[in-house]
Amino acid sequence: MENVKRITIAKGDGIGPEIMNATLKVLNAANVNVEFDEIEVGEKVYLSGNTSGISNDAWETIRNNKIFLKAPITTPQGGGYKSLNVSIRKSLGLYSNVRPCISYDPFITTKHPVMDVVIVRENEEDLYAGIEHQQTDEVVQCLKLISRPGCEKIIRYAFEYAKANNRKKVTCFSKDNIMKQTDGLFHKVFDEIAAEYPEIENDHFIVDIGAALLADTPESFDVIVMQNLYGDILSDIAAQISGSVGLGGSSNIGEECAMFEAIHGSAPLIAGKNIANPSGLIHGAIQMLVHIGESKVAEQIHNAWSKTIEDGIHTADIYNESTSKVKVGTIEFADAVIENLGKLPKRIKKVDYLNEKPFKLPPYVRKKRKEKVLKGVDLFIDWTGSSPDKLASLLNVIEVDNVELTMITNRGVKVWPNGFDETFCTDHWRCRFKTKDDSTFNKSNILELLSQVEGNGLDVVKTENLYTFDGVVSYSLGQGQ
Ligand code: NAD
Repeated sequence: MENVKRITIAKGDGIGPEIMNATLKVLNAANVNVEFDEIEVGEKVYLSGNTSGISNDAWETIRNNKIFLKAPITTPQGGGYKSLNVSIRKSLGLYSNVRPCISYDPFITTKHPVMDVVIVRENEEDLYAGIEHQQTDEVVQCLKLISRPGCEKIIRYAFEYAKANNRKKVTCFSKDNIMKQTDGLFHKVFDEIAAEYPEIENDHFIVDIGAALLADTPESFDVIVMQNLYGDILSDIAAQISGSVGLGGSSNIGEECAMFEAIHGSAPLIAGKNIANPSGLIHGAIQMLVHIGESKVAEQIHNAWSKTIEDGIHTADIYNESTSKVKVGTIEFADAVIENLGKLPKRIKKVDYLNEKPFKLPPYVRKKRKEKVLKGVDLFIDWTGSSPDKLASLLNVIEVDNVELTMITNRGVKVWPNGFDETFCTDHWRCRFKTKDDSTFNKSNILELLSQVEGNGLDVVKTENLYTFDGVVSYSLGQGQ
């Protein structure tokens, strides 16, 4: 066959092989114009001693083919294992994770009969940078990294997706009342980019009330864009309340490559029993076919899937005596979908992938750099004393030109000067030094400061520079400051 697209597939762990076999059976029966190269990833590879969970050869196949259909992978808990899912998404630059969560009332039982939400999850940044350190006996830290290019790309993707798919509204969730720098940047960029799409409605919710509303009235949302962690959690909730976490597919899109999967994980407790719902991976595969331009066959498979659901042929997770007709296993569900290829659903909306407009984002253009001025430094100190006044007195003997201690916080709350006795303190202290006259802080003074503090027997575990950008203070104040 000419122009046959080669797709990398991985059967993964737990229920992965069963749902992948069911999905491939459907794809093959529909005569998709693709060929598959299978690779091994996940638990077996981890446990064979390769802590990355993937071999170099497998990477090469993924990078050559550029399109990857992946069943869920188990990430061993504890130990030095990093999540391979996160590694693949980040290594291949798959910045956009699109997760449609749709209810199929009255065929699949749900408390939310009118639900058609697409969660667009940022896929490369946030706490998923996975940069963690233990700094003192009592305190560990995880860095939340948010970049302007990362925000611009995902938010623009959400608006372009809305435009191409005839969606009316894009909502942003963030927690910028607390994380004014990281989530603040995400919200700010959302407002900037939303202004470029006046034809699409936009709004913003603080993530906690946004999540509550999503769980209560999902019908009031259309497309929701959010950072990695919020998107990970809320897309599982959205898929589950639509009827089952087993229903949702997920596409991971980058500039060069793309990966398609189910929203859910490897469900080890039900593995090997032929009871898992293969719908999530089938939907992932449908998204893949649309992505590679095989829209006609994608439509055919999706309509056959909808007809199967309408016929009441349901796997155990969605089986309900009042709405289902037959409870089937994983492979029998796939057989029923195959039986329905070429048929149309009567009540579930027919999909129209042929008229979906493809879109490509413009490459990110780096902005003019702002003027960055050093205003001070935070020294993080491992100290087992309990009196902030005592720590301040140990630091106040230090003599560095025009530099003074201005504040001490413990887990972010100000404990000196004028702290409260009630505040619980750990062994992790942030000590802020600035110039006495608020002038520019001389960088070489940081080294002098460090040398004197260490010379005084105190243990500095980290330093963090304090900057203004174009005159705007770009570091957090202490709570209570
Ligand atoms: P999970 O999604 O595997 O399972 C959560 C619950 O949903 C379980 O009760 C499970 O039985 C049920 N469930 C999930 N998929 C189903 C399906 N297709 N049909 C019927 N029921 C289904 O989440 P978990 O238990 O937190 O994670 C298990 C493993 O999966 C972990 O090792 C985790 O790291 C991994 N994981 C992988 C991915 C991925 O590969 N993209 C995503 C999430 C979790």
